[in-house]
Amino acid sequence: MIEVRGLTKRYGEVTAVDSLSFGVLPGEVTGFLGPNGAGKSTTMRMILGLDAPTAGTATIGGRAAAAHSVPLKAVGSLLDAGALLPSRSAYHHLLALAAGNGLPRRRVHAVLDEVGLGSVARRPAGTYSLGMKQRLGIAAALLGDPPVLVLDEPLNGLDPEGIVWIRGLMRRMAAEGRAVMVSSHLMGEVELTVDHLVVIGRGRLIADTSMAAFIEAN
Ligand code: ADP
Ligand code: ADP
Repeated sequence: MIEVRGLTKRYGEVTAVDSLSFGVLPGEVTGFLGPNGAGKSTTMRMILGLDAPTAGTATIGGRAAAAHSVPLKAVGSLLDAGALLPSRSAYHHLLALAAGNGLPRRRVHAVLDEVGLGSVARRPAGTYSLGMKQRLGIAAALLGDPPVLVLDEPLNGLDPEGIVWIRGLMRRMAAEGRAVMVSSHLMGEVELTVDHLVVIGRGRLIADTSMAAFIEAN
């Protein structure tokens, strides 16, 4: 579903992502592991078309996400969860995103139910806990019913209940046939959830393996 080929990103002297190639299959949760600064966010931003590669390609369903404009119908992203207007409610944010992408209002209600924000959807986003903001970010990503869910460190800073909830959601999304890609700098955070592992360090591929094979080898 996601194909990354020779993907490279340089910022001046720094090579953030270095000739990366790997694939993410539908119906699976793929863990994207590496220490802080390894190049995970940069890779995910290029997959989502939010950043242009220096070289190489990243495609979703065979198509490149055009730089700058994420087609809501094809791609889900948590990467913009921080960009909330504190005085506006979850409902307002999602309604604006739906309207801007030609999606019907019923999708807003559907995703609010899916992420369990229905009862607080009219409260200003500035009053939300981190966990609620994460849920809102995921609601935004699910709005267009995308075949792919790309989640950048979604467990960061969450309480145990939020962590359990996001893990369950990722399994559910994969069971529905979506390709789920989740980054983390902590193996223990995702090892029980992922089917496949892609490990990077200093922008380079270190391992690309099924979780079953990884467990057997370690
Ligand atoms: P990770 O998500 O794995 O923590 P990043 O993709 O954020 O890693 O960063 C990879 C490398 O690229 C780091 O060395 C980081 O400092 C550098 N980098 C990321 N974004 C930029 C940028 N906009 N300008 C310059 N360097 C950047
Ligand atoms: P534009 O490219 O003109 O800003 P878009 O409709 O592409 O308009 O996106 C509007 C905002 O919503 C952008 O910040 C974009 O990153 C964000 N966005 C788009 N699609 C998603 C998604 N699936 N999940 C989360 N945020 C998204």
